[in-house]
Amino acid sequence: MTVTIDSRDIGDYVECDFCGRDYTGSKDPGGLLFGSKAVCPVCVPRTEANAKRDGETHFIRARCPDGMPFAEWCLQLRGGDNTVTVITTDGDETLDNLMELLWGALTQ
Ligand SMILES: [Zn+2]
Repeated sequence: MTVTIDSRDIGDYVECDFCGRDYTGSKDPGGLLFGSKAVCPVCVPRTEANAKRDGETHFIRARCPDGMPFAEWCLQLRGGDNTVTVITTDGDETLDNLMELLWGALTQ
């Protein structure tokens, strides 16, 4: 089995962590932070309704300030760190197995 860990600088690329819509350079305002996920203006109503239904409103950690574009807010939240890490394997490991392997590698 091969595990590949790849870090990439995605620059000013912004997409919704829920629907994947590309907001790079968009001026559309709104959005919220649900846990560590940036939720776009289109997904906000559904996310708020689901959070209320499931008793998870405490996961809404922040809201985009009035009038601020979602993309600009996301870049501000990143604080200049535009690096994402992509982990791939050529096997069919479960997430738990993969986390064990990574923990083993990190604590050697
Ligand atoms: Zn969305």
